Formats: sequence, C-alpha cells, structure tokens
Amino acid sequence: MTRGRDDPSIRRLRLESRRRADLHDSGQQGVTAVDENLAGLERRPLALLDRDGVLNKEVGFAHRPEQITWIDGALAALARLNTAGYRVVVVTNQSGVARGLYSEADVIALHGWMSEVAKAHGGRIDAFYFCPFHPEATIEAYRMEHLDRKPSPGMVLRALADFPTDRSRTFLIGDRQSDIEAAKAAGLPGLLFQGGDLDVFVTDTLSQISKMSF
Ligand SMILES: [Mg+2]
Repeated sequence: MTRGRDDPSIRRLRLESRRRADLHDSGQQGVTAVDENLAGLERRPLALLDRDGVLNKEVGFAHRPEQITWIDGALAALARLNTAGYRVVVVTNQSGVARGLYSEADVIALHGWMSEVAKAHGGRIDAFYFCPFHPEATIEAYRMEHLDRKPSPGMVLRALADFPTDRSRTFLIGDRQSDIEAAKAAGLPGLLFQGGDLDVFVTDTLSQISKMSF
C-alpha cells in the first residue's frame, strides 16, 4: 500500500508528532501548542543525544519497548545532565517509518515509554525529534531528502529554535559520523560515543565543557 504525499492522515499525524516531540516536557503527555508551553522558559544549555547506539543498544529498527536495552549508564547520564542544568533533547533518524517497518505513532509511543523510564530513574528527556524520511523510502509520502535527516542539521536547528538555549555549553553526542556532521553543520561540538558507559562519557564531557566555558 502506498500512501500519497498529501494523504491528510499522514499530514495530521506528522504535525501532531512534531508538536508532541516539541512538548515532551515535565511529564506532560498531551498535545499543547509549542509556543504556549515554551514561553517564559529560562535559557539553558542543551544536551542533544542521538538515540540508537547512545541511549539504547543498536539492534536495527527498534520500535517497541521490549527491543530497548539501555546503554550502560544511560539513565544515570540523563539525571546527571538534568542536575547540571541541561535540557536533554533526543534527535534520531527513524527511516524504519519510511521503509514501512513501523509507524510514526509507534515511534511516538516508544518515546513516551522511554521518557517514563527516564523519569522513574530520576531523569528527564525534554523533547524527542525524529526524522521519518528517507530518499529511498518504500512509502512514497516519506520519500525525500529531508533537512531533518542527519547528517543534515534540521532537527538540531529546530531544537535550538524551540528552546531558549545557552549555546556556549550546548553539545551533541552521537555514535556515528553523521551525528557529528549534523552538530558541526549547526555550529555545535559533536562528540563521538563509541560504546562503554554513557554516564562516564557524559561526566568527562561536562568536565571538559566547564573548562572551556568562561
Ligand atoms: Mg546512532
């Protein structure tokens, strides 16, 4: 089944997912207008995190909670970043949507679950941004080169636009070169996480950033 680019159900879902992605804040699950919710927020640094290979082990197209094995130290790292004053934003390519393996609704549901698990461990994920597009999508509506798809910086730029951000301490952590390129294209430092304990990696990162700041 191929759904057209202008299929209203896809358009509506996409809009809704954007709003939800922008909104995953303070445990509030519902859909609220971004500008209402973000108005008056204080300026804080962002920790932009890739998802697969950084927060959860890379298994290829994970889209259900039972497919998520958290990276060692990932949940502690989220809490550490929050305590250090960071907003945590996940930026993830999800071409499985374009390939017809799962839906945007599946991605949103999984992210809701991840958010709840983080919360149960004392951490907070402020927003999820995901890119469902791919130039070779099997579903026509998702077949395009999209600025959101890393190494392009669309999701990073949106997060920077959506949250009042202290850019001097903002960084991105990813496990692939395409993550690092997306950070660079947005003018931010990108740090390559090559496995191990994410909390150790984040602790080192925060200590380096604080030495660089003045
Ligand atoms: Mg990754």
